[in-house]
Amino acid sequence: ATPTSIMAGSGRAAEFGILFKGGEHLEQTGHIDTVVVDKTGTVTYGKPVLTDVLLADAIDETTVLSLVGAAEKQSEHPLAQAIVQGIEERNISLGDVQYFEAIPGYGVQATVSGQAVIVGTRKLMAQYGIDIHNVLSTMEALEKNGKTAMLIAINGQYAGLVAVADTVKETSKDAVERLQAMGIEVIMMTGDNERTAQAIGAEVGVNQVIAEVLPEGKAEEVKKLQAMGKKVAMVGDGINDAPALVTADIGMAIGTGTDIAMEAADITLIRGDLNGIADAILMSRKTMRNIK
Ligand code: ADP
Ligand code: MG
Repeated sequence: ATPTSIMAGSGRAAEFGILFKGGEHLEQTGHIDTVVVDKTGTVTYGKPVLTDVLLADAIDETTVLSLVGAAEKQSEHPLAQAIVQGIEERNISLGDVQYFEAIPGYGVQATVSGQAVIVGTRKLMAQYGIDIHNVLSTMEALEKNGKTAMLIAINGQYAGLVAVADTVKETSKDAVERLQAMGIEVIMMTGDNERTAQAIGAEVGVNQVIAEVLPEGKAEEVKKLQAMGKKVAMVGDGINDAPALVTADIGMAIGTGTDIAMEAADITLIRGDLNGIADAILMSRKTMRNIK
């Protein structure tokens, strides 16, 4: 590859909002055969909205939401922000937080107004020995609709659940179809549960989904694909996926994501549109053909 043609290729890519960190990435990008996309903030806008509040019998909504809102206000997770916003819109004042702990990949644990509050996944509830069998079918129904449902326990008892919905980006389905038409395998990876992941995957035409991956497990999943001989591009927004962006043959950061993503990645897709993935691969192939 001559430096001049690579520079020309990079310049053309920049016009499409695709920033390559160096010439070697432009060359490698043309060889990608597998694209792993993060769900939240990559396939979806990453701006979830609180849609459902369901409470256990004899539980007062204002009391529970005041505790949950206070606990989640301490968390920087986009899910937490959605929950807090939804609660504040209901004009509920938040309790006082005495203790807070984020449990990455699972949820949060806090003491609010003297009460023990836990919000998060089934597995988190299982860890604390909370009986949730009555709510499982309701939770599954929400998840089949692509929502993320989070369980609430107060003082060791199941108290209710909150669900949020995140919208799929308008361009994601077309972008996935373009990659598939190019013979590239598309896989979606998420820390979210299997059912929600399958529902969102179905919306964009991705049937291969790796769900319930813990934050530290995402890079491992990329390594597994590489061990199978695949040339992997990882596309993410940097929340929980920076190590996977570094591990992949090519890391692509979503420009609307975090600074961490752009630091970890080889390519930044400024527009946040997944069409940038196919554009980058096609441009790379073309540049390399012109050189040979
Ligand atoms: P994602 O890959 O979608 O960013 P995470 O790995 O961060 O997901 O989290 C996995 C799951 O843990 C979430 O789908 C949610 O059920 C639960 N969770 C994470 N953070 C919180 C939180 N602040 N409050 C409640 N539940 C949470
Ligand atoms: Mg994420």
